[in-house]
Amino acid sequence: MSRRILLLEDDRMLRASLGEALRIEGYAVTAAASLADARAVLRHAAPNEPIELVLLDLGLPDGDGQDLLAELRRQSNLPVIVISAREAEGQKIRLLDEGADDYLVKPFGIGELLARVRMALRRRGHASEPAILQYRHGALDIDLRARRVRRGGADVHLTPTEFDLLARLVRQAGQVVTHRQLLADVWGAEHVEQTHYLRLYMGQLRAKLEEDSAEPQHLLTEPGVGYRLAEAE
Ligand code: CA
Repeated sequence: MSRRILLLEDDRMLRASLGEALRIEGYAVTAAASLADARAVLRHAAPNEPIELVLLDLGLPDGDGQDLLAELRRQSNLPVIVISAREAEGQKIRLLDEGADDYLVKPFGIGELLARVRMALRRRGHASEPAILQYRHGALDIDLRARRVRRGGADVHLTPTEFDLLARLVRQAGQVVTHRQLLADVWGAEHVEQTHYLRLYMGQLRAKLEEDSAEPQHLLTEPGVGYRLAEAE
């Protein structure tokens, strides 16, 4: 059965084109043009056709999409991808820290959107879906269970902290993880301001894992926001 996406976007043209692209990919799409519409859709979704992901615009005629994100996070684990024309980094970070799964700044390519949707569904997906424990991309091969990292077939030695940081990114491969989330999960909640830890350890990881650490292919920087491990092959 197709997975159902709630598309909340008040721009009629954009709503039509995104809806069309998602349907072509095999998703079922319910469109909404306002927060009120979206709340009604979420409240009345048929149990056999649940909404499995929300594409959330922020500037809406009856309010800010951010309010809906907060409501959703109080009630559920439903994946939310923000689609917005606002690209202020501070806001992007806040939305991700508040539980958005990802963030796309308009205008964005359909291919990019579809990749992010796939990632978000895979990660939150069904409880029965196993967590990501294996990651392969280019010359890089990571097995979290065995705590083994290989590059071009050769074992790479990582320190425990380097490994923990890499593992955190593998679990969310393809998605941006904010500085705050990485610091909280790897170093602990009291260290969320220590972004210099991240710069240091990402530098070390890149030196060990990238062909050219100045042009990383795996460990990607999201300027001002965080890091993204390239989507697995
Ligand atoms: Ca809008």
